[in-house]
Amino acid sequence: MDTISSARRAENMRAIRSKGMKPELIVRSLAHSLGYRFRLHRKDLPGKPDLAFPKFAAVIFVHGCFWHQHEKRTCLDARKPKSNTTYWLPKLERNRIRDTNNITMLKRLGWKVLVLWECELPNRSRLSASIDQFLKSASRSRS
Ligand SMILES: [Zn+2]
Repeated sequence: MDTISSARRAENMRAIRSKGMKPELIVRSLAHSLGYRFRLHRKDLPGKPDLAFPKFAAVIFVHGCFWHQHEKRTCLDARKPKSNTTYWLPKLERNRIRDTNNITMLKRLGWKVLVLWECELPNRSRLSASIDQFLKSASRSRS
């Protein structure tokens, strides 16, 4: 059993639902409106990427800043928890290592990888441009 209180746990679950699910939907709908076709959570790929674009050998991950510990200095959501640190810190470190390994494996298998962070999602036009740019360059490097 971990030491996290049930109140805190409920709070975290709410955060996962409201912050974790929606960002992926935002990215899906942008990629869709740009005219790209993609598959979701392909189990045969390391890390089951949120979106996979087989035609371009490209994948996109949409990462929550806290769970995946966004390393950008200005990201407020990625701050390390100050309580229950013996529970949280190893857990977050494991997430970070797992992400790094998955990305390395994907690249070895010939996939291009784009990681989008939750805190970058509010600027839709910029987000849309970076998805488009990523996939265009993936498509160029394939041909
Ligand atoms: Zn962030």
